[in-house]
Amino acid sequence: MSAPTKAEQTAESEALAAAATAGIHRLPITTPFKVGDINTYLVEGDPLTLVDCGPNSVTGLDELESGLAALGYAFSDLDLIVVTHQHQDHFGLASAIARRSEADVACLDLLAPMLRGWEQHSRADDRYAVELMARHGVDASATTALKSIGEVIRGYAAPSRVDRELHDGQQLEMGAREFDVLYRPGHSPSDTIFFDPDSQITLCGDHLLSKISSNAIICRPLHRDWDGRRPKPLLEYRSSMLATRALDIEIALGGHGGPVTDHRALIDRRVKGQDRRASKLLDLLADGPLSGHALANAMFGEIAVTQAYLSLSEILGHLDLLIEDGLIEEDDSGETIVFAQVP
Ligand SMILES: [Zn+2]
Repeated sequence: MSAPTKAEQTAESEALAAAATAGIHRLPITTPFKVGDINTYLVEGDPLTLVDCGPNSVTGLDELESGLAALGYAFSDLDLIVVTHQHQDHFGLASAIARRSEADVACLDLLAPMLRGWEQHSRADDRYAVELMARHGVDASATTALKSIGEVIRGYAAPSRVDRELHDGQQLEMGAREFDVLYRPGHSPSDTIFFDPDSQITLCGDHLLSKISSNAIICRPLHRDWDGRRPKPLLEYRSSMLATRALDIEIALGGHGGPVTDHRALIDRRVKGQDRRASKLLDLLADGPLSGHALANAMFGEIAVTQAYLSLSEILGHLDLLIEDGLIEEDDSGETIVFAQVP
């Protein structure tokens, strides 16, 4: 992540000021995660709406309370809490705030069972991650360590009631504005963005981030009819980005970092960066087949245990691009899955 230039800083503060004039205010909340602060947004008007909430922590709750107070509001004023996707830093506090406000909690229909049954769903996700890592060559000591980290991280969210299940393509009133609810999976299986055609402001969660390319993390799909095959989130993410590229967006307000004011250029850069990384992986396979984990080590050097799953996700995502283009094949006949160039 490079430091923003002066011109970028000016563009960012102008965009935030324009959003605030439209009644949409950014409230950053500290997280214990490597990504840094998470942005929550207050949409003023009726219904007074909070989009995302921060991780379930006392610090998060305090920061949010002071952020709201600085704008003249208290938790009890909130009418609606909207969740953009299933990650802890985004919905962790939903339950605590809902209790303090009697606000409705709304999220994508697919995501609702996960918010309600967080413990059980996130445990199933962790089990899936451990199996996937083992199949792709990550050694047992790293997967054991990751299991205990999973237990700790799980606590940064709590199960939440969901009062309104949203559907892709519907409209949702937040503040005095009508937003289009648009399903954009890839970064997670539940990413949802909220596009206001009138102001052309979009609340986009982690679908588009200005300074970091969103990880397309491999995760158990939320669809009930999942056939058990490994999901391909980077391919999903690419088609989601292309759908967003077609929208006329003036300001995209993301879950981390500053606003995006050039979403088409940003998406083009992201796609190019992914293509570059995929062609590096193709080169690494020149001398013979390798596992996803071996490729991650070759690409990123020795990986910290905490990053093992993210790195593997990233590698598998880019391998999927090469498979899609017919350049490599996946061989799952052995104990460890390997990838090889197509002769
Ligand atoms: Zn996220």
